[in-house]
Amino acid sequence: MQMTLWAISENEAAARAVCAAFAAQLNPTIEELADIKCAVSEAITNCIVHAYGGRGGEIYITVTLYCDRSIRIDIRDKGCGIADVALAMQPLFTTDRSGERSGMGFPVMQTFMDALSVRSRVGVGTKLVMRKKLSA
Ligand code: ATP
Ligand code: MG
Repeated sequence: MQMTLWAISENEAAARAVCAAFAAQLNPTIEELADIKCAVSEAITNCIVHAYGGRGGEIYITVTLYCDRSIRIDIRDKGCGIADVALAMQPLFTTDRSGERSGMGFPVMQTFMDALSVRSRVGVGTKLVMRKKLSA
C-alpha cells in the first residue's frame, strides 16, 4: 500500500488510521495495532514538524505485509534532513526550542517496533524503515 500525504497536522491521524486499517488484515492484537499507530504517529509528526518545519511538503508512506506475519512501514520525506542520525536517535535529544518536544519520538518508535532504520541526508530528506513481526 502506498500513499502520499501533505505534511500538515490534519493528516497525522489519517496516516495512522490508514496504516492500522491496512495492517488489520493480518489480525494483529489490539496492543500490536496500538504500537503500530503510535510509531506511525511519531514518524509523521517528525516529518510535519522537523522535516518541513510546519510549511508542508510531501510525505511518502509504503506499507508492506509479508507471509510470515511481519509488517514493514517506510516513511520518507524530502525535507531538511538530519545531520547526525545517531545523535538524533538518542533519548531526550531534540532540536526543538519551544519546549513542546521531549526528544522521545525515535525511542518510542524503537520500543513499539522490532526494528527501526533511519537514513538521511541534509537538504535531501529522510527515510525511515520500521519492521514488526506480529504474534501468530
Ligand atoms: P518528540 O518526538 O518527543 O515530540 P522530537 O521530535 O524532537 O520530540 P524525536 O522524534 O526523537 O524527538 O526526533 C529527534 C530529533 O531528530 C528532532 O528534534 C529533529 O531534530 C530530528 N528529526 C527527526 N525526524 C526528522 C525528520 N524527518 N527530518 C528532519 N529532522 C528530523
Ligand atoms: Mg518527534
